[in-house]
Amino acid sequence: MARAHVLGVPRIGPQRELKSALEAYWRGDIDEAALQSVASGIRQANWQRQHAAGLDFVTVGDFAFYDQMLNHVALLGCAPARFGFGSTLGLAEYFQLARGNAASPAMEMTKWFDTNYHYLVPELKPDTQFSPGTAWLFDEVAEARTAGFNPKPVLIGPLTFLYLAKEKTAGFSRLDLLDRLLPVYGAILARLKAQGVEWVQIDEPILALDLDADWRTAFERAYHQLNAAGVKLLLASYFGPLRENLQVAMKLPVAGVHVDCVRGGDELAQVIDWLPVSKVLSAGVIDGRNVWATDLAAVLDRFEEVHRRLGDRLWVASSCSLLHVPVSLTGETRLDPELRRWLAFADEKITALAVLKTAFNAGRAAVAAALADNQQALASRRASTRVHDAAVGERLAALTATHDTRNQPFAARQAAQRVRLKLPPFPTTTIGSFPQTAEIRSARARFRKGELSEAEYTATMQREIRRAVEKQEALGLDVLVHGEAERNDMVEYFGEQLAGYAFTQNGWVQSYGSRCVKPPVIYGDVSRPRPMTVEWTRYAQSLTDKPMKGMLTGPVTMLQWSFVRDDQPRSTTALQIALAIRDEVNDLEAAGIGIIQIDEPAYREGLPLRKADWPAYLDWASRAFRISASGVADTTQIHTHMCYSEFNDILPAIAAMDADVITIETSRSDMELLRGFGDFNYPNEIGPGVYDIHSPRVPTAADMTRLLEKAAQVIPPDNLWVNPDCGLKTRGWAETEAALANMVAAARTLRHTYARPLAATTAQA
Ligand code: GLN
Ligand code: ZN
Repeated sequence: MARAHVLGVPRIGPQRELKSALEAYWRGDIDEAALQSVASGIRQANWQRQHAAGLDFVTVGDFAFYDQMLNHVALLGCAPARFGFGSTLGLAEYFQLARGNAASPAMEMTKWFDTNYHYLVPELKPDTQFSPGTAWLFDEVAEARTAGFNPKPVLIGPLTFLYLAKEKTAGFSRLDLLDRLLPVYGAILARLKAQGVEWVQIDEPILALDLDADWRTAFERAYHQLNAAGVKLLLASYFGPLRENLQVAMKLPVAGVHVDCVRGGDELAQVIDWLPVSKVLSAGVIDGRNVWATDLAAVLDRFEEVHRRLGDRLWVASSCSLLHVPVSLTGETRLDPELRRWLAFADEKITALAVLKTAFNAGRAAVAAALADNQQALASRRASTRVHDAAVGERLAALTATHDTRNQPFAARQAAQRVRLKLPPFPTTTIGSFPQTAEIRSARARFRKGELSEAEYTATMQREIRRAVEKQEALGLDVLVHGEAERNDMVEYFGEQLAGYAFTQNGWVQSYGSRCVKPPVIYGDVSRPRPMTVEWTRYAQSLTDKPMKGMLTGPVTMLQWSFVRDDQPRSTTALQIALAIRDEVNDLEAAGIGIIQIDEPAYREGLPLRKADWPAYLDWASRAFRISASGVADTTQIHTHMCYSEFNDILPAIAAMDADVITIETSRSDMELLRGFGDFNYPNEIGPGVYDIHSPRVPTAADMTRLLEKAAQVIPPDNLWVNPDCGLKTRGWAETEAALANMVAAARTLRHTYARPLAATTAQA
């Protein structure tokens, strides 16, 4: 009998119950027992769901109060010594690791592979010790048993755990800690076996990465030792093909291997070739990273022969944990019914696995109705005019090299823009958003609910724009913004106005801790039916003689922070969005706007996991950006903005975007980040963020002057802009005004210091 299972499910609960309970607990509104009871309810419901659908196991250990890596820090007794905790953590201590306390800052957080989920980064030193720690996993296994389920615990494997951790001392390799770590894993496995567990899923997603030889060879040693515990191990890799790690993975002494057949589908034949006759193959056929219904007949066509060969040794599974998709379509009553049929969230993916299992074991006839329904939904998606817009296809086909290049090279544009804009040296600006006050949020919410008329809403937003413009003029900023009061979110705001985008009511996905995001769904060809920002921007420009910067979200970020189509390459969708943004850029220009910023904070996040795949991505991503930006005259200045801390490995691709000005995050690294731009001789203008908007601290003019002087050492001073790190929407007005006043003072100091050399190169000093 083929078996079916999932690698993990969402832990937030169908109505984000975990989020509410966590936040209530942190506020002190509920006690630990109440929080535990919510958690237990979520786990029980998740297991019940898997069991009732007919899956062969319930996954245990995919639950975490904050994060699965942090759970492993607790399980392995390796909390950073700086917190001074013992080897077994209480819940209060666990949360201090995640959120910090008065004495110790929180552990760092970073993105989990190429997902939008963030994990807490274990901290390792040469003397880090591991020991059996917090017993939550064993408690949960017992909990599942007691409730009558067949638990399959899941662990993050020792190599992935070490790989994703950070060395907090120079001069040692965290891989050296493997021998100290393995006995603790051995003890955990032995204890699970003693609890009557048959199978343990052990996740090693680093097998989808480029691994150095020492990491690759460590696998065999590690798994020889873990195999000795006598419990059956299902080694799980996901998020990509195995490539040069394939043989290593297939030869490990484990009872079964899970592979991602969605992203690594081309390798299936090789995987089967290498699969030893005794091993189980768990085929990840249902996409855990996307929200589309799987073509079940296509899976059956592909795997029925495999099933004949492997028999009981074939399991069907989600490609990865379902953590990365929303919980259920049940509550989506407002989605268009046709579109809804094309979708599958975690619940629907579990159902699909059960259908596949029955089809393998009892034949397709046993699930004929479900298969027919699935085929109908897919046929409607393939044929739908809501998906396919011939005009968009024709525009894409007609793209030529002229669409992704500006008329003249940067130097000529820079000269033309200087004549037109007449900005002083070290021009000052902000990244776009101003404080989103309670009044702004409430006006937006009331407008959405229909409690505020269109006219009242427009008047309220115009008042906010006027206020922001007056404040910027009083501060003496050079390039103004309208403040983005009308935007709740930089992707949602545009997505709602573009054809091809849909929004769910309850499609939440955990981002980190209690924080969840609700990514839009790109289901069809994207186009822009009408201007999206022109009226607000035109109004803002009418209030001032200073240049007003138009503010847009770029195509890569629009793509990256959405669920995307799986029926065409990401690059095609990116180009469609690029054309829609280009229409907006051109309309802003026609409305007299001389500076347009196209934000791309997610540009780097889009990088594929494997270096070999980077050039292709960077090629289409930078092209998409250039297509959005290149419809304008040379006198129109295009800005972009990115806020993260690693640029150096993609500087050529950032230069290839050919934005006239890029604003970046640098203040937290004391301008060190800029060195890369300097060494690379980055050709265009740069605004290194001179203050950290994530902190309420108001930086002094002297702080910012020092940073700018440091920046002027590595970047030609006449290419430098002066601006904060990022948008100011999360800050209050008082601190914002104080900080910006100091920032303007710092720019004036620099103008004074560099007056002479610059006078020769700028139109007006
Ligand atoms: N223009 C946006 C803002 O100022 C940019 C936000 C971002 O970089 N994430 O809020
Ligand atoms: Zn930013």
